[in-house]
Amino acid sequence: MKKQFKAESKKLLDMMINSIYTNKEIFLRELISNASDALDKLYFTSLTDKKLKVNNDDLEIRIELDQNERTIKIIDNGIGMNKDELENNLGTIAKSGSELFKESSDQKQNIAIIGQFGVGFYSAFMVSSKIVVNSKSINSLEGYTWTSSGADGYTIKENAKKENGTEVILYLKENTDDINYDEFLDDITIEKLVKKYSDYIRYPIKMETSKDDEKDKDKSKEDEILNSMIPIWKKNKKDVKDDEYNDFYSDKFYDYEKPLKIIRSEVEGRCSYTSLLFIPSRAPYDYYTKEFEKGLQLYSKGVLIMDKCSELLPDYFSFVKGLVDSEDVSLNISRETLQENYQIELIAKSLETKIKKELENMLKNSREDYENFFDNFGKQLKYGIYSSYGMKKDDLVDLLLYKSSKTKKYITLKEYIENMQEAQKTIYYACGESLDKIDLLPQVEMVKEKGYEILYLTDYLDEFVIKTMMNYDNKEFMNVADEKMDLDTQEEKENLKKANEENKNMFSLMKDVLGDKVNSIQFTHRLKNHPVCLTTKGDVSVEMEKVLNAMPNQNDIKAEVIMEINENHEISKKLEQLYKKDDKEKLEKYTKILYAQARLIEGLSIDNPTEISNLVCEIMAKDK
Ligand code: ADP
Repeated sequence: MKKQFKAESKKLLDMMINSIYTNKEIFLRELISNASDALDKLYFTSLTDKKLKVNNDDLEIRIELDQNERTIKIIDNGIGMNKDELENNLGTIAKSGSELFKESSDQKQNIAIIGQFGVGFYSAFMVSSKIVVNSKSINSLEGYTWTSSGADGYTIKENAKKENGTEVILYLKENTDDINYDEFLDDITIEKLVKKYSDYIRYPIKMETSKDDEKDKDKSKEDEILNSMIPIWKKNKKDVKDDEYNDFYSDKFYDYEKPLKIIRSEVEGRCSYTSLLFIPSRAPYDYYTKEFEKGLQLYSKGVLIMDKCSELLPDYFSFVKGLVDSEDVSLNISRETLQENYQIELIAKSLETKIKKELENMLKNSREDYENFFDNFGKQLKYGIYSSYGMKKDDLVDLLLYKSSKTKKYITLKEYIENMQEAQKTIYYACGESLDKIDLLPQVEMVKEKGYEILYLTDYLDEFVIKTMMNYDNKEFMNVADEKMDLDTQEEKENLKKANEENKNMFSLMKDVLGDKVNSIQFTHRLKNHPVCLTTKGDVSVEMEKVLNAMPNQNDIKAEVIMEINENHEISKKLEQLYKKDDKEKLEKYTKILYAQARLIEGLSIDNPTEISNLVCEIMAKDK
């Protein structure tokens, strides 16, 4: 009975059949990768399952070409697939990938998604009209055959395969005017492709090749190993081109975009190791979700012993992909013993230093790349400071970037300090949803006018991180919307104090109108032309209040809010008049409107919009 592919798989399949990729040849790399993974898995399993007798030297991948049948076979003696696995692995694409796939209809985006998961097995449909997979799993007594001619579905039948492993048979498509599929039946082409894409595979990739035999004047066939089997990270540095690293990266780590940075190092010492690390150009789609798993591949003498060793990377560098190969790490290391493993700890420390240095260099020497990096992964660095309660501040703070009020471009804190005015003692910042919105905040205007640079924080994490750091280079951070913010001269200060003192009773009356929505009301000089704003006192700012209350299970967290009214604005004279005339009703209305305005400016909602709207219209109607 024919079974249908799942909807998303069918979509991918259609794309493969109608081949969007110009380089169809990558199918070979994908199938060899799968075969190599299957050998790894078998080897892995044999490390813990003593009943399994696996001799590393017997593990191999074989390619067979048949010009008459027009088939290519890729054969491995790896772990194999049982019936369910054939069904689940070849009938569907990776679950997480398919979710995304369902939503997008755009070709370009689809390619991007594919890039992140690897098209894998399905890419074989770019060159095949029919695919047969014969497989026997080490966990199953029977072998099974999966057959499909593409979109119309697949069948699974029992077969008589006795040895463990998988044989993939590709029936090549008919040649067309544009594409000559027969080229893949040529052993020279295949050899070239293996060298190009799969040279580093650590298992031998064998193929019978024809050799002209001088004596017999006859063609004799003999097995040849097509790949060097030297892993790319073990090759001489000068013999490996960036392109090869890039191909290796996209093959192993499912990212179709070139890595932003390749870091390769060899370390001799208390614990010797080779590492090949990549900083991706783009955050994976699931990077900031809990599904994302950090970690590096761990090899011992060229043998993969763990796929995602998370102990090798600190959380704040979790974006790094790559591998570590060390002779000093035992083959029998397990997840349980990993945590106390001294070697792993040493390697992790040393890698951390390397990654940090690389980022610092990038920041210094290729700013554009670094800014791109920061847009993708900056949040993670900030989180590193926040979640360590500032303990990691010294390590990470100079890698942070903030947008400047002056240029709207990124600056480091170091650069901020260098640009500071002579008498300036404080690092000013302002928070909001976007640069434009922050730029329009009333509290910002005066600070800018006095010539001070302000850091514009648009990421919800930013202010929490700044509060955690407390200061930089002995300069304190100050939110321009903090009540303590003060740019007045001594004389101005005294005048303001006097004015506030004189109007104490009026403010207290107004405060009664607003109840516990505000802690107090006062005049201010911080607003140049704007009538009113909110400032906060203490640890929680208005922005932080928004973030905290958006979190699940949070009790109502309240910033200590002060409503400040511009003493130099006509509205304050008006308020004073009303108070003197004892026009309580009007004073009450105006207070409500002012408070609503202040909230709206901060991007906060108001809970009585109808009332406010009616009040404003009432006043408008009376206007002569
Ligand atoms: P990916 O390799 O990215 O997971 P593929 O579509 O290439 O995606 O393969 C899907 C799954 O099928 C693999 O994850 C693996 O479990 C299984 N598979 C493919 N080829 C083989 C093989 N030669 N031996 C054993 N399992 C295989």
